[in-house]
Amino acid sequence: MPTYSYRCTECDNAFDIQQSFSDNSLTECPVCGGKLRKVFSAVGVTFTGSGFYRNDSRPASTSSSSSTPAPAASTPAPAAPSTPAT
Ligand SMILES: [Zn+2]
Repeated sequence: MPTYSYRCTECDNAFDIQQSFSDNSLTECPVCGGKLRKVFSAVGVTFTGSGFYRNDSRPASTSSSSSTPAPAASTPAPAAPSTPAT
């Protein structure tokens, strides 16, 4: 059964409810009795924002290192010899 999201236009009460396709849409807010508006938060439209797949913006100098993560800053530097700077 699909889940629909509603939001009240009067008191801004938002909730989700499971309804079958044959059920009538809710039109009345259970809190204040105001007018409900159906919110379409469809799955799959969530990724339209910028920034997704932005990882491809690196310079393609070496095409063979596509899936190899660079070990950047993961290896701790060896203990620095405490030589007194004289
Ligand atoms: Zn309401």
